[in-house]
Amino acid sequence: MKILITGGAGFIGSYLAGELLEKGNSVLAIDDLSTGKLDNIKHLKEYSGFSVKIDTIMNEKLMEKMVKECDIIYHLAAAVGVKYIIDNPLRSIETNVCGTEIVLRLASKYGRPILIASTSEVYGKNCKVPFKEEDDSVIGYSKLYRWSYACAKKLDEFLALAYFKEKKNPVVIARFFNTCGARQTGEYGMVVPRFVKQAILNQPITVFGDGKQKRCFSYVGDVVRGIMELMSNQKCYGEVFNLGNDKEISIEELAHKIKGMTNSKSPIHYVSYEDAYGDGFEDMQRRVPDLSKIKKFIGYSPKVDLHEMLGLIIKDFKA
Ligand code: UDP
Repeated sequence: MKILITGGAGFIGSYLAGELLEKGNSVLAIDDLSTGKLDNIKHLKEYSGFSVKIDTIMNEKLMEKMVKECDIIYHLAAAVGVKYIIDNPLRSIETNVCGTEIVLRLASKYGRPILIASTSEVYGKNCKVPFKEEDDSVIGYSKLYRWSYACAKKLDEFLALAYFKEKKNPVVIARFFNTCGARQTGEYGMVVPRFVKQAILNQPITVFGDGKQKRCFSYVGDVVRGIMELMSNQKCYGEVFNLGNDKEISIEELAHKIKGMTNSKSPIHYVSYEDAYGDGFEDMQRRVPDLSKIKKFIGYSPKVDLHEMLGLIIKDFKA
């Protein structure tokens, strides 16, 4: 198959491209390098079936050509990372809303099945544990730009499902929960690459808030396997799925674990949310996926645990 990946030079997109090429597919990638990097895809050049366009998904003419050429689409292009979204709200809302609108419209025009990458952020401040797909989104004040990401992605979900309902175009929505792996950058806020880098360089490990907040980290290889299986099963079309790992760890424990695994001399510094992200920042305490739906539909469960994943990330960073 010929597969289009938007955001193909991004952290997750580049892993997906590698897997699809390895299975004998051709991959057409588009990336504007806003958060993606050419470095992420340099090893893919050896595959004759790989090509990449450095451009924006907002370039409708180019997108139309690429959508026409492909058989299916993975739409991963998005502005991500809490820090990036707070620093660039306009760009991130435009990419996440207008960009997705263009890709969905073209997918529908040419009848191409499409996977939309969404996020656990859509649950917002909902305190329920664990989250089931049908649970409410609890979104904060509009002046707190963090929430613009949740709203943009939720709108993407509504739009994709509307195309499924009214135009009968095949769509699948996957909500990612804190995906990590080698090559991920900490530049835009992601905690695991930040802590690994700080620990290896013996710099202070910056725990935001009191560090009691918890997250469930999932390995990028598991996530990529999950989306490929979702797309290859027609029963999944028109559905929304949580995709991640349901084992929790507090951010404070994560800092100690990474410090131990790297034999680091880093002190652990507690940084207030205000100092990290500005006044009024709101974090969520827990974010656990209920994985029963994805297990029922495609038999999915994560294979790589946190310890193994951190080992891979640390090894890659040292290399
Ligand atoms: N975090 C932290 N130190 C950092 C970066 C992030 O303590 O240097 C915290 C952040 O406040 C959040 C958790 O780690 O509670 C996960 O943050 P990330 O931005 O990776 O993802 P989120 O789950 O917030 O989208």
